[in-house]
Amino acid sequence: RERNGHEPEFLQAVQEVAETVIPYIVNHKIYHGKNILLRMVEPERLISFRVCWVDDKGEIQVNRGYRVQMNSAIGPYKGGLRFHPTVNASILKFLAFEQVFKNSLTTLPMGGGKGGSDFDPKGKSDNEIMRFCHAFMGELFRHIGPNTDVPAGDIGVGAREIGFMFGMYKKLKNEFTGVLTGKGQSWGGSLIRPEATGYGNVYFAQNMLKRKNDSIKGKRVVISGSGNVAQYAAEKVTELGGLVLTLSDSGGYILDEDGITAEKLKHVMYIKNEKRGRISEYVDKYPSAKYFEGETPWSVKCDVALPCATQNELNGDDAKLLIRNGCMCVSEGANMPSTPEAIHEFQKAKILFAPGKASNAGGVATSGLEMSQNSLRLSWSRKEVDEKLKDIMEDIHDSCVQYGENEDGSIDYIRGANIAGFVKVADAMLAQGIV
Ligand code: NDP
Repeated sequence: RERNGHEPEFLQAVQEVAETVIPYIVNHKIYHGKNILLRMVEPERLISFRVCWVDDKGEIQVNRGYRVQMNSAIGPYKGGLRFHPTVNASILKFLAFEQVFKNSLTTLPMGGGKGGSDFDPKGKSDNEIMRFCHAFMGELFRHIGPNTDVPAGDIGVGAREIGFMFGMYKKLKNEFTGVLTGKGQSWGGSLIRPEATGYGNVYFAQNMLKRKNDSIKGKRVVISGSGNVAQYAAEKVTELGGLVLTLSDSGGYILDEDGITAEKLKHVMYIKNEKRGRISEYVDKYPSAKYFEGETPWSVKCDVALPCATQNELNGDDAKLLIRNGCMCVSEGANMPSTPEAIHEFQKAKILFAPGKASNAGGVATSGLEMSQNSLRLSWSRKEVDEKLKDIMEDIHDSCVQYGENEDGSIDYIRGANIAGFVKVADAMLAQGIV
């Protein structure tokens, strides 16, 4: 706390893990006297660098780039790159720390990392995005590699940005390798990767409901965000017979009581992915829907809530409102979207609650599958990848149950995910000695 006092998001993520893992360490002698958690909270390496690029007006812009290489005990560092003006060392350290546990939970051999820049892609031309991505990779390339560190996308980094960065990496290194995941289909990408985080989150919610002899079918579902994760969570909910009521962005949310059907979702994808517009434009085409400026969707009556936008987007009051309105299942698509107060409310009400490190692990798991396909120089079918994703989400769910079952038979998915993720990494660190 003394060393990281100025990093609130990082402290929040560490505290949540420490609260559940420390009692486990106390009860397990092999970890005694090893300072294992203290070693895990210190990044193996934190790189910060200058990114200079020229905008369309010919002016020189300067941004700050980062890569946090958090833990490589069980495999090469792996985790996304975020381009957003709020990016700083605290946010990236929290994301990298979460990533270590998440990647461990997938059962695939991936360490944890995260990176990005305070660059704001909003309102930039394609050429500006390209120049920025090339400049960013102009430094990052020397710190990453298919056996060292394999970045992916995150907020503000999708297929377009990954393409530009891959192009520059290939030019600088003169080699075609699986150094980034989330690549385009024709140049090493995996089928289902764009869908994986959103689909995986819904599969996880489905697994939690199944344990209660219930399912997504017929449920009213509230989703926040309208980016990559939110879009495909919405697609899967509809496919499984649920009714998607809301989507949002940083401007506000839309409510469509008739449901955001597959056809309407196509229009959302056009607005957000092609036109790069605002979610408010949805009501221009579907006037029976309503737009609520500057608000989040948590006051809408629902059975299931899927926060899929960003960290700390759902607070204690929002949680109380959701519970009062009958919500019985919350599955996090974003990283740490619920504040500690919100989590406290969910736990007090004993509703199903899945932390992002378990429920949104489908994306990185499929990135792991992309790495395997790249190494094998093979391309698996859509069905094959989707089946593997479903199996992985079920395995993660079962690990949470194994480590998180309470005496009354209910499941503390937070404790389950934290301990299951911790054990594998901690054991590898012990085996490798003090390095
Ligand atoms: P996108 O950039 O595709 O979409 C982000 C969405 O969240 C947009 O709708 C954006 O609105 C909204 N948003 C971003 N910041 C804020 C904010 N401060 N307040 C309100 N809304 C905001 O990102 P992703 O969908 O990829 O990521 C969403 C979340 O999921 C993040 O927490 C990410 O870390 C997590 N995640 C993503 C994975 C992936 O595979 N992509 C994997 C695992 C987790 P606007 O357009 O207005 O900015």
